[in-house]
Amino acid sequence: MRRGALAVVGLAMLCRAACGQVPDSGRWQELRFGADEVAEQMEGRYLEQVVELAAGGRLDDDRALLARLQRIGAGLVRAAAELKPEAAAWQWEFHTTRDADVDAQCMAGGKILVGSAFVRKLALDDGELATLLAHEVAHAVAEHDRETLSEALYFNRQPEPPLDVLLERLATDLSLQIRLSGLSQLQESEADQLGMVLAHRAGWAGAAMVSFYRKLAADDAASMLSSGHPAPASRLSMAKGMALLFTAPQLDAVVAQARP
Ligand SMILES: [Zn+2]
Repeated sequence: MRRGALAVVGLAMLCRAACGQVPDSGRWQELRFGADEVAEQMEGRYLEQVVELAAGGRLDDDRALLARLQRIGAGLVRAAAELKPEAAAWQWEFHTTRDADVDAQCMAGGKILVGSAFVRKLALDDGELATLLAHEVAHAVAEHDRETLSEALYFNRQPEPPLDVLLERLATDLSLQIRLSGLSQLQESEADQLGMVLAHRAGWAGAAMVSFYRKLAADDAASMLSSGHPAPASRLSMAKGMALLFTAPQLDAVVAQARP
């Protein structure tokens, strides 16, 4: 057995139930909470948000966009389940809101909300909208909420708070947010890359994905650019590189072989 393989086996034994692995890249994650308890908490938060938007008449008022989200989302969820089989059993939900503060977001377990003003502002066609959605689906597939909460627990160990208290701290404690900013940036880059893999597997063209990131880079007022994402130029350059891989299957095979 090679030394690298031994190291992976050793890490897996050390991590046991407390470790996960991101599909496709194989990045190891330390996970201190169960997937079900995190999904349950996040579902409660999502429900609160959706009910509040509905009460204010700001939920799913753009029926055409909602239909596009559901149609495109179904293909992405199928691609997600190929990489992470348990994702097939999640209760995926797609909603849209005209709340201008929302661009796109995803909570654990596949709860997605997309801002109609954001989609309209960038005039996203179906392939570009698939790229935006795929980024959000990737956050769920890579269990980023679960990983973030687990990392937050590391900074809040004594006494160890319950999950709902930790979630509240995560939303309101600036110093905790700053401590987690490195992980957040890593997750955003990962969601860009894994999202493109999902969109590609769902049949969307690499050119549409590049076009989405080009539009983001051209619109420096887009709120996605200011919330912990990589610089727009590096996102665009990542998209161009990934799209090149999709059109060169032999390169794809080389990259797959090089992965641990
Ligand atoms: Zn993101």
